[in-house]
Amino acid sequence: MPFSDFAGNPETIHRLREMVARNRFPHAVILSGARGSGKYTLALMLARTLNCLEQPTTKGTDSDGLPDFCGHCSNCTRIAQSEHLDSRFAEAVEARENLRDTDKKETRLFVQTHPDVLIIPPDPPQLMIKVDQVRHVIETIYYRPGEARERVYIFTSSAFMKEAANSLLKVLEEPPEFASIFLLTENPGELLPTIRSRSMTFNLGAVAVTEIESRLPQLRPDWNARQRALVARLSEGAIGRASSFDLESYVAARSHALIMLKSALGGSDNNNAHTELFKVTESYRSGAEGRAKIDNLLRTFYSLLEDLMFLQSGAAQLVRNTDILGELKKMSEAADFAWVQRAAEGLGEVERGLRRNLLRSLSLDAFATALERVS
Ligand SMILES: [Zn+2]
Repeated sequence: MPFSDFAGNPETIHRLREMVARNRFPHAVILSGARGSGKYTLALMLARTLNCLEQPTTKGTDSDGLPDFCGHCSNCTRIAQSEHLDSRFAEAVEARENLRDTDKKETRLFVQTHPDVLIIPPDPPQLMIKVDQVRHVIETIYYRPGEARERVYIFTSSAFMKEAANSLLKVLEEPPEFASIFLLTENPGELLPTIRSRSMTFNLGAVAVTEIESRLPQLRPDWNARQRALVARLSEGAIGRASSFDLESYVAARSHALIMLKSALGGSDNNNAHTELFKVTESYRSGAEGRAKIDNLLRTFYSLLEDLMFLQSGAAQLVRNTDILGELKKMSEAADFAWVQRAAEGLGEVERGLRRNLLRSLSLDAFATALERVS
């Protein structure tokens, strides 16, 4: 039952599989959802379902009677090789880099591990879908599939160059019987209205924290239960974000934010906390790496302030940093609601300062000092 591996959105999945069952699968499907919501995973699952040679529809005791895919026939296995999109994409970029200059210009980027299934990623460096990529789709889409029943095209981004979007529209006006086009997007409004009106849109909504948490042991066996609970709450309902969450950076940034918070709430005579605090703020330097580090710190800081607000308003069940709940409770007693609010405003000021290129360590020092003044 490979579809049971898909997290969340059971009604959407049911509708899509039902359309496969009735041989009414749309020629163009827009899968919309946040980053990490499973759009690409779902498109590849449907590509396999449309083309599986075993069709385990009614086989097996755990079957729900709807079309599925076996995962081991030659169509399933070759399509599955496209699963790790980032590495496949990197390989395609590298292959093009190794071409002679004249060929390089004419070579468009694709990921293809099955002759009838083509993945069209946005072409670097602009990371847009280009007209030559769509032309290649047009050149192949009207030929009957060789080894599959249904040709499948998956556009992994909705950032189309204008000419590319217009060419795609022509295909959608006269799609062949035996092809399905998937358009993946975080924002359907980015697609031409005429493209949207010729497609069926399915939205992948946020997955419940409990479901993400229950799937993480399989996806990230390296995390313990506490870590899984934390990541499930921080991943904003996106299973892909949860499974690839950079827990180490998060925890490092959070320990810095906690030092700053504790120093502020501990009062101004707390010398030890101060020494520690300046060690932290000093470590935020200029350069691109420093930029990512401070962005992480600010994001983490906001999540802690939000948690403090949840605690103060009696909504402890909404706290995301559950692994340090005890510490947060103590802090929420030392700070009142107005303090947390001012702290959030102070963070906004640090962000504005960063945009004006103020020295990072100085902005943070000023912020930390301001926090103490208001406490
Ligand atoms: Zn199969």
